[in-house]
Amino acid sequence: MSPDLDVAVVGAGVAGLTTAHELRRAGLTVRVFEEQPHVGGRMHTFRHQGYVIDEGAEQIPERGYRATWELLARLGVTGREVPRIGKAIGVWRDGRAHPGVADPAALVSGAGLSPRARLDLGRFLAWTALRRREFDGDHPERTPAGARTVAAFARRYHRDLHDYLLQPVAGCFFGWDTARSTAGPLISLMRSAGPVSGWRTYHDGMDLLARRLAEGLDVETGSPVHQLVGDGRAVKLHGPSGTVTARAAVLCVPAPVAARLHPGAPEDERAFLTACTFTPTLKVSCLLDRPLAPASPRPLYALLTPDAEDELLSGILIDHAKHPGRAPAGKGLLTLMADPRRIPELRGADPRETAGRLVEAAARYVPGLPGAVREHFMHGFTHGLPEATPRALALRPRFTARAPGPVEYAGDWLTLRPASEGAVRSAALAASRVLSRLGRSPSATLTSPAPRSDTLETA
Ligand SMILES: Cc1cc2nc3c(=O)[nH]c(=O)nc-3n(C[C@H](O)[C@H](O)[C@H](O)COP(=O)(O)OP(=O)(O)OC[C@H]3O[C@@H](n4cnc5c(N)ncnc54)[C@H](O)[C@@H]3O)c2cc1C
Repeated sequence: MSPDLDVAVVGAGVAGLTTAHELRRAGLTVRVFEEQPHVGGRMHTFRHQGYVIDEGAEQIPERGYRATWELLARLGVTGREVPRIGKAIGVWRDGRAHPGVADPAALVSGAGLSPRARLDLGRFLAWTALRRREFDGDHPERTPAGARTVAAFARRYHRDLHDYLLQPVAGCFFGWDTARSTAGPLISLMRSAGPVSGWRTYHDGMDLLARRLAEGLDVETGSPVHQLVGDGRAVKLHGPSGTVTARAAVLCVPAPVAARLHPGAPEDERAFLTACTFTPTLKVSCLLDRPLAPASPRPLYALLTPDAEDELLSGILIDHAKHPGRAPAGKGLLTLMADPRRIPELRGADPRETAGRLVEAAARYVPGLPGAVREHFMHGFTHGLPEATPRALALRPRFTARAPGPVEYAGDWLTLRPASEGAVRSAALAASRVLSRLGRSPSATLTSPAPRSDTLETA
C-alpha cells in the first residue's frame, strides 16, 4: 500500500510551516500536524480586547535574517507590514536606565558601561569586526570564540562588559546563563543583527509569518503526534486519532521533544538531540490603563535588568512603544520577563502570586505600575530558547554531516541560535534534504543546501 502522504511535518511553528511551504512548492503532498489549536509555536500572538500580545518572539532585525526576509517577500509581505521599532534599548544601572545597547554610539555614551569598560567595548568590537567572516551563524562550532562560554570569554575584558552588556543581552533576549552557553553564537547573532535602529516588528503581531505560511498549506491543528516509527520504506506517525504513513517525516519541534517522539533515531542523531538543551521562558503581559514606561533620556522599547541589579526580572518590554497597535489608543502594554534562573520556582507557585511578584519587582523601574495594571496574562514555554552548550557545539558537526534519512529535523536549535531566522534556515535545509532523498531536484525549491552560505537570499 502506498503511504498516505509524501511528507508529514510535525509542528506548525515557523520551522514546520517553512518546511511544508518549501516541499509543497516542489509539488509534494504535505500535511502539518500541530498539537496546539493554533499555528505559530513560539511566535504565537494572543489577542484580547484590542491588545496584541506576543507570547514568544518580539522582533526581527533587517540584517542577519536573510532567509526570513526572502520568505516574506515571496509571501507578498511588504516592509510596511514589518515597520521599524525606532526606539532604544536601555540597561538599568545605579538606579536609572541607560539607553544605547546595540547602538554604536554606546562607545561614547557608555550605555551603562564605565569609561574604562568603554575602551574594552571598543577592543571587543574591533576584535569581532576583524573576524566577522568567521562568525558565521550557520556554523557556530567554527567561530574564533571556540567552545568558551560567554562568561569565560568575557574574562579578557573589563567586568562591566559581562555584567552590563553580554549577560543582560544573553539573559533577556536569549534566556541564557552565561556560564553554560558559548560565546560564538551570541557574538554571531549580535554582529549579524546589527544596530537596534534596524530592528523591526510585525505590525499586527509576531505570528504574521506563521499565519501567512499556513494559508497555503494543509495544517491539522489540535493534532499531537505521539511517536514516529520508520521502517525504511515509510514513516508511521501515531497520534490520538490513528496512524498516518508518509514517505518521509520532518520533526519541527524542540530537540528534547524530537528525541522523545523518535526513540529509534540513529545514534549520530540521538547524541546531538539529547545535547540540545533549552531554557524555559516566562512572561507576564500587563494590560495597562495608560502607556507607562521606564523613565529614560531616550524612549525605550526594552529595558534590560542585569543579574547584577535584579534577581527576579531579566527585562521589561514596552510593547506599546514597540508598535502603537499593540495596545488600544491611550492604553499601554508592558511585558515583564522573568529571570530564567527563577522560572522553575516561579512556575511551581500560584500564577497570581507569581504575576504579583513580577509586577511588584517591575515597579522599581516603572513607578505606579501596580495601580495601572487592569489585567495580566502569563505565558511560558518549557522549551523556550535553545542553549548553545560546549557539548552541543562539539556534537553538531557529526549531526550535520549525516546522510539524509526518512526522518529529518528543523528548528532554531539546529544552528544553536535562539532566533526565528535559525528556524527558517534549518527548514530550508531540511526541505532540500527530503527532496534529495525522494529523488526530486533540489532546484525545484527556492533554496539550496549550500553548506557555508545563506540558503535563502534577500531579493
Ligand atoms: C520569549 C521568547 C522570545 C523570543 N524572541 C525572539 C525574537 O525577538 N526574535 C527572534 O527571531 N526569535 C525570538 N525567539 C525565538 C523564536 O521564537 C524561535 O526561534 C522560533 O519561533 C522557533 O520556531 P520553531 O518552529 O523552531 O519552534 P516552535 O515555534 O517551538 O514550534 C514547534 C511547534 O511544534 C508543536 N509541537 C510540539 N510537540 C508536538 C507534537 N507532539 N505534535 C505536534 N506538534 C507539536 C508546538 O506546539 C509548536 O507549535 C523568542 C522565543 C521566545 C520563547
